[in-house]
Amino acid sequence: HEAELLKMVDLPTVMKDGHKLSLQANIQTDGEVDAAKRYGAGGIGLFRSEFLFMDTNDSASEEHQFNAYRKVVESMAPKPVTIRTIDVGGDKIVKGMGIDEKNPILGWRAVRFCLSRKDIFTIQLRALLRSSVYGKLQIMFPMISGVEELDAVLHLFEHVKEECRAEHIPFDPDIKVGTMIEVPSAAMCADILAKKVDFFSIGTNDLIQYTIAVDRGNEKIAYLYQPMHPGVLRSIRMIIEKAHQENIPVSLCGEMAADPLYSVLLAGLGLDEFSMGPQSILQVRKILREVSYQEAKQLAEAVMQMDSYLTITTYIREWMHDRF
Ligand code: PEP
Ligand code: MG
Repeated sequence: HEAELLKMVDLPTVMKDGHKLSLQANIQTDGEVDAAKRYGAGGIGLFRSEFLFMDTNDSASEEHQFNAYRKVVESMAPKPVTIRTIDVGGDKIVKGMGIDEKNPILGWRAVRFCLSRKDIFTIQLRALLRSSVYGKLQIMFPMISGVEELDAVLHLFEHVKEECRAEHIPFDPDIKVGTMIEVPSAAMCADILAKKVDFFSIGTNDLIQYTIAVDRGNEKIAYLYQPMHPGVLRSIRMIIEKAHQENIPVSLCGEMAADPLYSVLLAGLGLDEFSMGPQSILQVRKILREVSYQEAKQLAEAVMQMDSYLTITTYIREWMHDRF
């Protein structure tokens, strides 16, 4: 089975009627680049940079970060590498950051943390800019909840660029900047945010959690955590629509991008890029190559009329069963 899939490593992810998609890899350490390449990733769609802060005492230094980012960017070049800035807090516990809260899921995490610890954030942005000359680096920001927050982050980023220019540190002047969409208020304001960035990446792990108000790590209520909840699907559809109205592409880097049951539906909703654990890429590629975009859009249209995740999941299962 694996041997069969491995034949598709160098094939493009193109649907039967020519519609092209990009399948990229999620990684959390620079060492995982090898797996991304082995499974034919079109790039790195999500590098969870906070993992760098978990290893050594020196892990937060500019040099340490620069070396890791450069390694990933260089070894994937000319393919794109999207590095997400630090997402600590919430379910991501990193010792020594001083985060200890009663309600961490709704608390001081990701860009909220970074904007009040500009010392840490600035070092990361410098390390990222320095590594941008070694390939095709893109940067994205986690947990953006609205336009003021995005403006604040983009403003700081411009400031760090100015500093680099003043110090004659070379960086890619056309570096693309995106925002994750994983907070419901950001989803509702997708049209506004899309005017300010070069791309969106939908973080469904959090978007589902916050949309349905269900802790992603709580087993007692795990039955409520449903990617096919119509509320989640409407949100995804709207995010993609609004982004496309501003001509920016949309990626999805939550776990649902790796589930072959959802691949056709997501393509039918107009998603441009999927980012997932490297070992899932080939199976998703296989499915997408065997279906046309036209059919995928019809599936999405049918599903968007339905009223519950149960109905939707059953319908998609049957649809997939008939075809595969
Ligand atoms: C997400 O929320 O979907 C995501 C990709 O980020 P993380 O799982 O790291 O929160
Ligand atoms: Mg997230």
